[in-house]
Amino acid sequence: MSDVLLSERDMAFLLDDWLGLETHLAAIGSDTDRETVSQYLDLSAKLAADRFLTHYKKSDHEEPRLENGRVRVLPEVGEALREFAELGLFSASFPAELGGMGLPYLVTSASYAWFAAANGASVGYAMLTGANARLIAAFGSEAQRDRFALPQIEGRWFGTMCLSEPQAGSSLGDIRTRAVPDGSDEFGDRYRLTGNKMWISGGDQDISENIVHLVLAKVPGEDGALPEGTEGISLFIVPKILPDGVHNDIAVAGLNHKMGNRGTSNCLLNFGEGEGATGWIVGKPGQGLAQMFMMMNEARVAVGLGAASLACRGYLLARDYAKERLQGRAPGVRDGTPVAIVDHADIKRMLIAAKAYSEGSLALCLYAAKLVDEKANPESTALLDLLTPVVKTYPSEFGRLANDLAIQVHGGYGYTRDFDVEQLYRDNRLNPIHEGTTGIQAGDLLGRKILGRGAGGFDIFSKRAEEAASRAADNPDLAAHGSALADAIGNLEETIVSLKALDPARRLDNSALFLEAFGHVVLAWLWLEQALAASSMIAADEESRAFAAGKIAACRYYFEVELPKSQHLLALVGGGSTAAASLGAEIF
Ligand SMILES: Cc1cc2nc3c(=O)[nH]c(=O)nc-3n(C[C@H](O)[C@H](O)[C@H](O)COP(=O)(O)OP(=O)(O)OC[C@H]3O[C@@H](n4cnc5c(N)ncnc54)[C@H](O)[C@@H]3O)c2cc1C
Repeated sequence: MSDVLLSERDMAFLLDDWLGLETHLAAIGSDTDRETVSQYLDLSAKLAADRFLTHYKKSDHEEPRLENGRVRVLPEVGEALREFAELGLFSASFPAELGGMGLPYLVTSASYAWFAAANGASVGYAMLTGANARLIAAFGSEAQRDRFALPQIEGRWFGTMCLSEPQAGSSLGDIRTRAVPDGSDEFGDRYRLTGNKMWISGGDQDISENIVHLVLAKVPGEDGALPEGTEGISLFIVPKILPDGVHNDIAVAGLNHKMGNRGTSNCLLNFGEGEGATGWIVGKPGQGLAQMFMMMNEARVAVGLGAASLACRGYLLARDYAKERLQGRAPGVRDGTPVAIVDHADIKRMLIAAKAYSEGSLALCLYAAKLVDEKANPESTALLDLLTPVVKTYPSEFGRLANDLAIQVHGGYGYTRDFDVEQLYRDNRLNPIHEGTTGIQAGDLLGRKILGRGAGGFDIFSKRAEEAASRAADNPDLAAHGSALADAIGNLEETIVSLKALDPARRLDNSALFLEAFGHVVLAWLWLEQALAASSMIAADEESRAFAAGKIAACRYYFEVELPKSQHLLALVGGGSTAAASLGAEIF
C-alpha cells in the first residue's frame, strides 16, 4: 500500500503562497501563529498515515456488523479515534472556553484533508461529532451544552445527524418522526419521540462511551396531526444512554451495506418502539431546519473537502504508477526497451485532467474554508453562500472523475482490490448523494442564489474573478486566460438575463447544467489565481520550478479544455433546452 496521502508542497503553496495564511490569521484576530499551524498539520499528517491509513483496506473488507441489536465496528477505528481525541483533535476547532484550541476553520480544514485522504470513513465519526457538538453549543442551553456537547468535544461521546427517513430524503418537509411533550427538567423541555430514521452514519457503534443523536422531528398540533412542510420541523437531543444511565428507547433496525466508505456504520434506527425515545428540544419548536441550515455551509465544505482529498490521493497514486509502469514505445518506435507510460500522450491527458480536477477541488475547498473564518465580513458570507453548492458538488463530481481516471491510468491493476484507487473511487461515489444530492444543490444555486433572494453573492464573485483576470493581463503567459475568464463571466451574466425571460415554472429545468457550467467558471478563476501565485514564486531549485510549471500547465489545461465546455452548457440553459425536461415518463 502506498503511503502517499497528499502533496505537502501543494498544501503549503495553497495556504501560504496563495491564501496568505499568516495575513489571514492576523486579519481574523486569531492568536494562532504559523509555527503552531505547522506543528498541527505535521501532527495531522503523521497521525493520518500511522493510525488511519493503516486500516483503510481492513475496514473496507471487515465492515460493521449487527450482533444482538448492537453494531460492532473494527477495533482499529476506535483506537485511531482515541488517539485523535488524546491529541486534542476533536476539540481543536472549538473555543478555549469549551476546552478547545480555537483554531481557524482554514487550519482545521487543512488538517481534516490529511485524514480524509487516509481514511475518510474512520475520521467521518469525528466530523459528525464535531458538527453535532457545534450545533448544541450554538443553539442549546448551557445545561445541554455541558451535558451533551462537552463529552463530544473531548472525543469520549460521538454524535450523529438524524434527518433522513425512508420516505423523506431530499424532501425533509415530509418527515414523520413525531415528538410529543413529556414535561421538563434541567435539560429543558422533554419530549417522547417515535419514528424511523434512515441512513444514519455512526447511528450505532461500540467505539464511544455514548452516542448523541440530533434528531429532526415534528410536534403534532392539538388535533394530533403533524404540521405540513419544513416550518414545523424541530431539533431534539436524543442520547443513546440517558443521563440516569438507562438505555434510551432506540433500536437498530438494520445496517446498510454500502458500496464504499464502509468503515462508517450506517443504520436504520427505530425511535420509540416502546414508550417513546426521550429527547430534549434545542431552542423552540419549528426552529429545527433553520438551526441545521446554519451549520450546513460548514458541513458542505467538509463533504467537498473529503471528496477533494480522495481525488488528490488518487491522482498522486496514478502519477507515481505512471512513472514506474513500463509499457509500449514512443510513436513510430518498434523495438528497444518499453517507456514509462507517463510518456504516452493519452496518459498525460488523464493525469493533467486528474490534477486539474483534484488540486482545483482542494483549492476551492480551502478558499471556502477561509471564507468561513471571515464570517464577520458580509462580503465573504455572501460569497460563501453562493459558492457552497459548487464547493459541495464540484469535488464530488469531478473529484470522482479524477478517481475514475486514476483507475484508468493503472489499467487492469486499477480494477483490482490490490491497489487503492478502486476503493478511493467507491468511497467518493457517496459524495454527490449525501448532504443534498447534486440535483438539490443545482436547484439551490440557480433558484435561490442566482435568481432568488440570495442573489447578492454573484456580483462579489464576478468582481473577484474579474480582478484576477485583470491581474493576468500583465502576465504574457496568462493574459489570454484572463480575457477568456472575463468572457466566461459575461456569458454567465447573459445566461442569467435569458433565464429571467423564460417561463418562471421552467427556469430550473436545466439547473444541473448551470451548476456544471458555473463550476467550470469558478474553477477557471481559481486556477488562474493559482497560476498567478505560482508565476510570482521565487523558485529556488529544480523541484520548485517543476512545481510552479505544473500549476501553470494545469491552468492552461483548464482554460483550453474545461472552461470552453461552460459555453455549450450555458447556451442550453439560456435557450431553455427542453431535450430532457419535455419528456413524458412513458418514454423511459
Ligand atoms: C452512505 C450514506 C450516509 C448518509 N448519512 C446520513 C446521515 O448521517 N444522516 C442523515 O440524515 N442522512 C444521511 N444520508 C441520507 C442522504 O442525505 C440522502 O440519501 C439524500 O439526502 C438523498 O435522499 P434519498 O436517498 O431519499 O434520495 P431521494 O430524495 O429519493 O432522491 C433520489 C433522486 O431524486 C432526485 N430528486 C429528489 N427530489 C428532487 C427534486 N425536488 N428535484 C430534482 N431532483 C430530485 C435526487 O437528486 C436523487 O437523484 C446518508 C446517505 C448515504 C447513502
